[in-house]
Amino acid sequence: MPKPTPETVARMKAVVGAKGVVANDDAAPYLEERRALYRGRAAAVLRPASTEEVSAILKIAHETGTAIVPQGGNTGLVGGQIPFESGEEVVLSLTRMNRIRALDAENNTLAVDAGVTLAAAQAAAEEAGRLFPLSLASEGSCQIGGNLATNAGGTAVLRYGNARELVLGLEVVMANGDVWDGMRGLRKDNTGYDLKQIFLGSEGTLGIITGAVLKLFPRPQSLATAFAAVPDVAAAVKLLRVADSVSGGMVTAFELVPRIGLDFVTAHVEGAHDPLPDAAPWYVLIEMSAGSATADLDATLEAVLAEGLEQKLVSDAVLARSEAQRADFWRLRETLSEVQRLEGGSIKHDVSVPVSRMAAFIAQATQAVEAAMPGVRVVAFGHIGDGNVHFNLSQPVGADKAAFVARWGEMNALVHAIVRAMGGSISAEHGIGRLKRDEMAATKAPVEIAAMRALKQALDPTGILNPGKVV
Ligand code: FAD
Repeated sequence: MPKPTPETVARMKAVVGAKGVVANDDAAPYLEERRALYRGRAAAVLRPASTEEVSAILKIAHETGTAIVPQGGNTGLVGGQIPFESGEEVVLSLTRMNRIRALDAENNTLAVDAGVTLAAAQAAAEEAGRLFPLSLASEGSCQIGGNLATNAGGTAVLRYGNARELVLGLEVVMANGDVWDGMRGLRKDNTGYDLKQIFLGSEGTLGIITGAVLKLFPRPQSLATAFAAVPDVAAAVKLLRVADSVSGGMVTAFELVPRIGLDFVTAHVEGAHDPLPDAAPWYVLIEMSAGSATADLDATLEAVLAEGLEQKLVSDAVLARSEAQRADFWRLRETLSEVQRLEGGSIKHDVSVPVSRMAAFIAQATQAVEAAMPGVRVVAFGHIGDGNVHFNLSQPVGADKAAFVARWGEMNALVHAIVRAMGGSISAEHGIGRLKRDEMAATKAPVEIAAMRALKQALDPTGILNPGKVV
């Protein structure tokens, strides 16, 4: 892409006005990913305030061949929202587009600007006595536009699906600046191609999402949460199926926590403690929810755990008896990512396999990385109910961090080969971005890559939208 001329940059800045231009000194937070894996430069960082402004900027970009990098809350973990080091791209942050547009309680929908944070969308739903169920540890910062552009997952996918399944309509600014108003709140619409699906998960490479109509759900009136010790991953998977059948489909979250993860959290997070008296190799955090206030979910969850004990799938368990205790359990799970940083270098794998192969995957992948790097500490945790595990590696105690992280590609290759052999995915929920672009191209069938490239060519013929990411 050509570097935009000073005149092009000035025209774009004029569209957003002084309020929408991030001064050079303040641009740093928009140019670096939070894990510091990627740091870029930009010709400008712009913060448009409306769909019209996004459209006007895209028209200039289309005319001048200027590359645009859309950015939401900058919590993405694959470098998609960060410009390259060339300084030729313009970062378009949606942060100022943070209006709740409309809540239609009868239709059970919420229409928002793309820059509304996930937490603000959840709060708007809650005010109306409804639930917007997408839930991620980054929800205070990540934005609906970013969630939809990455098809985010999170802790409630088991019950409600990924972001893709939680959206009914979209407003998108196309690469040439045209605005597609697809803000429909329809649960049934069988009029040809479902265009919105093309933009969901496209990571800013096909269009800029400026608005969305989100699906709302009844707010759960009863919740039950337990932290259970299990002897191994196979037992955890069997317990999930027991929970499914005993509860009749009320399981909302089923998260795997390894002993080493619990050790990290209790060592580094103030106030965190082991909920059970004896150490076990693995744990699961189970949550059930029901729309009815009269459902006795504690009794249902107790029945699940009793059946688990009987079948030797559970060795011990504790039920949350208060909201504070429930929050404590969730804190153990949600701080698992950040505590790894305090244990030195960490190499990540966000992968999925069929749930039925989860135990075999974790066993084989652990064996492979331990053989290649004696002393490596496997921290495998996450959304086991969806077959999605964050198979992360912490550096051996006392190892050199830089030397450890330098083996990122080698470890990825070992783990991803096992994922592929098991029919899994090398990116379960974080996307492709820059981090996994080349690997994706090498692992998908040529016909699939060709179809993706044809789509990109059709919707962004001059290649100005987030170039170098995904395809
Ligand atoms: P950004 O990071 O700003 O952007 C991500 C991608 O989307 C980029 O390619 C960007 O170009 C594109 N994009 C952003 N906004 C738009 C738009 N309006 N139009 C078009 N393209 C756009 N992810 C999960 O899926 N599940 C988790 O459980 C999870 N947990 C996390 C926990 C932590 C602590 C952190 C830091 C991250 C976690 N993530 C998780 C990753 C991240 O939060 C999600 O990918 C999130 O959806 C990104 O939203 P964002 O607004 O920050 O987008």
